[in-house]
Amino acid sequence: MKAAATQDGIDIFIISAFRSVARQTEIIDAKRKKGISDQEIFKVNAPPGRSEHHTGKAIDVGTPGSPPLEEAFENTKAFQWLSSHANGFGFRLSYPRNNGYGIAYEPWHWFYSPSS
Ligand SMILES: [Zn+2]
Repeated sequence: MKAAATQDGIDIFIISAFRSVARQTEIIDAKRKKGISDQEIFKVNAPPGRSEHHTGKAIDVGTPGSPPLEEAFENTKAFQWLSSHANGFGFRLSYPRNNGYGIAYEPWHWFYSPSS
């Protein structure tokens, strides 16, 4: 997919992919230590064991010039490109705006789930 994007003049890179349950627990514990409430944490982080990143099929995508893992990614050419091409590579956007999971909109988070 990255190669196809490059051919279209779009620069995308992977920010993170596989993440273990232990790593997810660390991330959440670190936020709790900073005094962030569970309610806030679970809007942006899945509970340990529930993250799509544990499957190895989820990727967080970035592009140069856009701050990583921020909603502003939706305004990039990379996001436009992904919106029209990622499905063809078997990727779908897991958490669109106003998704039913109670998870914040994540234009950078794509899950490999080919329909055929
Ligand atoms: Zn993600």
